Amino acid sequence: MEGKVVIVTGAGSGIGRAASLLFAEKGARVAVVDLDPAGGAETVEQIERGKGEAILIEADVSSTDQVQAMVRKTVDAFGRLDYAFNNAGVEAGLIPLDQYAEEVWDRTLSVNLTGVWLCMKYEIPEMLKTGGGAIVNASSAAGVIGVPQHYAYVASKHGVVGITKSAALEFGGQGIRVNCVCPGMIDTPMTERFVPDGARPMLEEGHALKRFGTAQEVAETVVWLCSDAASFVTGHAMLIDGGITAQ
Ligand code: NAP
Repeated sequence: MEGKVVIVTGAGSGIGRAASLLFAEKGARVAVVDLDPAGGAETVEQIERGKGEAILIEADVSSTDQVQAMVRKTVDAFGRLDYAFNNAGVEAGLIPLDQYAEEVWDRTLSVNLTGVWLCMKYEIPEMLKTGGGAIVNASSAAGVIGVPQHYAYVASKHGVVGITKSAALEFGGQGIRVNCVCPGMIDTPMTERFVPDGARPMLEEGHALKRFGTAQEVAETVVWLCSDAASFVTGHAMLIDGGITAQ
């Protein structure tokens, strides 16, 4: 990935940070994008400590203006855009349907689904200028199965699978591959917030591999999907879920 440029959103924490570090290790220059500048700055620092190259961009992926600016700043700094990991996302907790607030629904959809769509909308024209590229979007195991009381998150992640396939079909002929990853439970700050006290053993048991995954395990797949090793893979929703959806 020497000479290549990647945008990673939600790069200040968890899976996004692990992917940013791995892209940098493979030689890519990384635009580290996050709502949280402190987390993003820490990721940039870690990349630079490893002799990689990165810039920090503070942006909310649910804002059209900020996503446009994110792409512009990346190209201004590095001259091109080859890969994107549209990873920023939020969870909303488990809420019974009759108590589900529309604000929670709207905010979750606007970050997890509209955010991914906006990123693709402004990233792809830049990739086309240099003859193509590869995009990985963040879906979830909850993008292929239902989860009781998890309405907005499940809807957003199913939506990501759909728009991933649509973009793969629209741009495959122009050298752009678009895939998404569908992780099971991964040990990150999001999971720490989401998993209720004492529920972890039961959730681990639900995975065929009887454990949560690591951010590094997801990052390895994301970087592989962007690499030339995956040159005939597009429109795919790749489970990295320890077998939680195998039953
Ligand atoms: P995380 O540790 O919470 O990291 C997500 C990062 O995204 C945070 O730094 C967060 O900033 C940032 N972010 C949130 N909203 C944003 C916005 N509107 N614009 C830009 N950045 C924003 O989560 P993670 O576990 O690494 O999850 C990464 C992705 O994987 C998400 O899309 C998630 O849904 C998906 N996923 C995670 C799991 C899991 O088990 N962890 C499983 C399946 C799928 P703040 O901290 O400031 O909010």
